Amino acid sequence: MIRVAVNGYGTIGKRVADAVLKQPDMRLVGITKMTPNFESIEAMRRGIKIYTSKENMSLFRSKGVEIHGEVEELFRDADVIVDATPNGVGAKYKQLYQSLGKKAVFQGGEKADVAQVSFSALCNFNEALGKDTARVVSCNTTGILRVICTSMHIGEIEKVRGTIVRRAADLKEVKKGPINSIVADPASVPSHHAVDVKTVLKGLDIVTAAVVAPTNLMHLHTLFVTMKEPPSKDKLMEEFANTSRIVLIRDISSTAELFEAARDYGRPRADMPEVMVFADSISVNSKEITFMYAVHQESIVVPENIDAIRALNGVNSSMEITNQTLGILKGVFP
Ligand code: NAD
Repeated sequence: MIRVAVNGYGTIGKRVADAVLKQPDMRLVGITKMTPNFESIEAMRRGIKIYTSKENMSLFRSKGVEIHGEVEELFRDADVIVDATPNGVGAKYKQLYQSLGKKAVFQGGEKADVAQVSFSALCNFNEALGKDTARVVSCNTTGILRVICTSMHIGEIEKVRGTIVRRAADLKEVKKGPINSIVADPASVPSHHAVDVKTVLKGLDIVTAAVVAPTNLMHLHTLFVTMKEPPSKDKLMEEFANTSRIVLIRDISSTAELFEAARDYGRPRADMPEVMVFADSISVNSKEITFMYAVHQESIVVPENIDAIRALNGVNSSMEITNQTLGILKGVFP
């Protein structure tokens, strides 16, 4: 059993914790929480052990939240710590993880040099095997890498150009915007997403431009992939249809309907960890392929976190069991 601790029980942390609970070869030893809010109550209801800082303990207990110990005690009990703290906070914990001799999975909000390898299960699983640290790339980068590494099965890629329409906030966030604007983010090219892709696919010629839109449901990307030889649209459709973690969408053209479809399907929290490719958008013009897809920012990195835990522990096959336990789809959705 791989003993896993989750540090930071927010949007990503709580989903990773739930996913760990579903793995037959992992045990969730506990999570950390810094505020005794509704998420703490929910973790307690799920039977998850909560750890906090020494100073916070009496506050949690005064709110009726059971505390099992201090953060460091939790880390000592784990083989791997999944760090899902806010951007930049993970880097501050890195030394503690190291001094305790623990392996750690970081998130995409950290700089690439926080870990020995930036990780995308479909692209470079083996590079993380047996390492001490891995960084699961951001939600947007995870989406881009899944479709690029799948496109590579039909031929060699010459270059990738893309636009990213980013969601402004997650559903629970009340202090982020914009609410009345589309913001170039940044108003320069490339956006950091292309740079992040290259932390995994080092030699790839890729340029991205990004904007933030007033929505909280999903991101939407359009990619223009130029192949070295004219590609077959049918082959690409076949690759997308046969790859778990990618689904083809028909008769839906908005993230709002996709979110509703996930709710109808009965997904917990309406999560859709699959990249959702709009089937009708896939087109081929000479050597260039164009397609559009949606990325559910809150859940897309969850399967990759589970794979990264196994990879760090030297388990060399993970994706199939992750897909099975999390009910990850392939083919046409819904
Ligand atoms: P979040 O704010 O929802 O959750 C972070 C949690 O960490 C919160 O519960 C917060 O209370 C807790 N925390 C804050 N300081 C802490 C500390 N010092 N020690 C322990 N816990 C602490 O953030 P999130 O959206 O889950 O993001 C976490 C990481 O995942 C970031 O690197 C982010 O870039 C990345 N990420 C986020 C998304 C997304 O869309 N939300 C998608 C992919 C990757």
